[in-house]
Amino acid sequence: MAAEKKAVVTIDGPSGAGKSTISRLLAARLGYTYLDTGAMYRAVGLHVRRAGIDPEDAEALEAALDKLEIELSPAEGDDDVRVRLNGEDVSAAIRTPKMGLEASRISAYPQVRRRLTELQRLMAAQGGLVAEGRDMGTVVFPGAQHKFYLDASPEERARRRCEQLRQRGDEPDYQEILAQIIRRDQDDSQRALAPLRPADDAVIVDSSQMGPEAVVDFMLANIDGFAMLGEN
Ligand code: C5P
Repeated sequence: MAAEKKAVVTIDGPSGAGKSTISRLLAARLGYTYLDTGAMYRAVGLHVRRAGIDPEDAEALEAALDKLEIELSPAEGDDDVRVRLNGEDVSAAIRTPKMGLEASRISAYPQVRRRLTELQRLMAAQGGLVAEGRDMGTVVFPGAQHKFYLDASPEERARRRCEQLRQRGDEPDYQEILAQIIRRDQDDSQRALAPLRPADDAVIVDSSQMGPEAVVDFMLANIDGFAMLGEN
């Protein structure tokens, strides 16, 4: 008998809710691939910025997207996913707060969303994926078998982001990070296209008071028959 196709698990939510950590852990526990779609938006943001493209210029944006090659590969240990943009390793360059805002800005353009949605669906063709982003359960994989929406208070998210940046050797300003988070939430949830919101059938998880392992255990308990799917 042919092996049953593996499931797609979606994890959406605002920035700093712990999606990357949780998605990476959950994917490892399930033996699935982790798809970091924020990294893809960041890579497009970097590409558009470096090429000096005005995203309002639809033709120029379309041409840039046509030539775009994004390659994601799993990182060692706790590191973020490695990202190659047209062959160049941009893993570090895309992980700054500034590039987060840049990604948010270009993510409102329909051509960008269309192209990245297409690539994300291709990456999920074999199933066995934990897809993390803002519109995974609502737009990209509406038929996903398991959907989660991970949230936490803006203050807790800003605290975590500062901690993360400190570990990278930066000296973040908490108030500035909090303001960026609030602004990005507003931009992401108010845009007309694929706004940030939980899918109707998503399980909402507030991670403000929960450690990553507890969140992952809760999710696994919610994934019916995950042991069976994980064995395929
Ligand atoms: O998750 P991360 O902070 O890396 O995402 C950067 C930005 O990319 C988000 O603020 C959001 O605007 C955009 N994004 C998106 N849809 C996704 C993933 C990210 O619009 N699926």
